[in-house]
Amino acid sequence: TVSGPEPREDHRICVCVRKRPLNQRETTMKDLDIITIPSDNVVTVHESKQKVDLTRYLENQTFCFDHAFDDTASNELVYQFTAQPLVETIFRKGMATCFAYGQTGSGKTHTMGGAFSGRGQDGSQGIYALVARDVFLLLQTAAYEKLDLKVYGTFFEIYGGKVYDLLNWKKKLQVLEDGNQQIQVVGLQEQEVCCVEEVLNLVELGNNCRTSGQTAVNAHSSRSHAVFQIILKSGGKLYGKFSLVDLAGNERGADTARANRKRQLEGAEINKSLLALKECIRALGQNKSHTPFRASKLTQVLRDSFIGQNSSTCMIATISPGMASCENTLNTLRYANRVK
Ligand code: ADP
Ligand code: MG
Repeated sequence: TVSGPEPREDHRICVCVRKRPLNQRETTMKDLDIITIPSDNVVTVHESKQKVDLTRYLENQTFCFDHAFDDTASNELVYQFTAQPLVETIFRKGMATCFAYGQTGSGKTHTMGGAFSGRGQDGSQGIYALVARDVFLLLQTAAYEKLDLKVYGTFFEIYGGKVYDLLNWKKKLQVLEDGNQQIQVVGLQEQEVCCVEEVLNLVELGNNCRTSGQTAVNAHSSRSHAVFQIILKSGGKLYGKFSLVDLAGNERGADTARANRKRQLEGAEINKSLLALKECIRALGQNKSHTPFRASKLTQVLRDSFIGQNSSTCMIATISPGMASCENTLNTLRYANRVK
């Protein structure tokens, strides 16, 4: 008999890893690629360790996931195994959520947004665009046409535990919980969209807003979570929702060591939210009755993603291939390993 992992009763959580290629800077600095993907669901880190006599040796650490993508994988391929199977969920009144988790510079935005405008170059559209494409395709099929659904987009950012509307000049928004534990982001702009092109216009508008007044795009995006949502409504009421979350960078050690007070507070807030996220996804996977979604603003606004029989989640953990990133890469893999 073949022994393997127990087949899952449900497929509500899918955790994948994506390795990016060495970049120009790493190549110039002669950084080494220490990540191999020996099969389509295994990641091996070849960690360089030092003995007492100062000679070095490689120690391999292997992790198993639902899928592992090497540096030749396209956004389309990653999409097929992660967010695409969840698109149907929102047509069944469900809540679908896709997270990109990883170190700054490891490829979260490349995977989700594809590019600044969300359009991507040479056809490498990101997951925002690909979800939008398939939502509009499904809307035109006979089974769903009769539901008379309308599509809306929202785009907001969570920074320092506060919510800012990226479709409305970064207006700061209040998050309220009513007596039925329903969470409301008060005044969040919901823009109706009729085609992929209109969705991408929203992505571009939001990204412009996100980075305005910022000296470095990555410096800011590494410290905030960006949430892009595609919402289906029927007769003015919420029908289904797909949340696509480009998380803040998970590298905090270096930050806190040489950081000023503001950076330290930001770092603590990010740690808190990523920890809360891990607990909420685990609770969803184990069908626990208690989900600690109030532990951070991120998990609070995504409450619908963790509660209810009809919620499905996927996580794409992005990793850098270089030896210089080894510690962050291992942290990312351990985190992803815990949520699966
Ligand atoms: P993050 O959002 O995690 O900080 P980015 O998505 O901005 O990282 O990626 C950093 C750089 O690496 C970008 O220039 C991006 O185009 C490039 N990059 C990331 N992932 C890939 C990939 N899989 N293939 C090619 N280039 C990539
Ligand atoms: Mg980014």
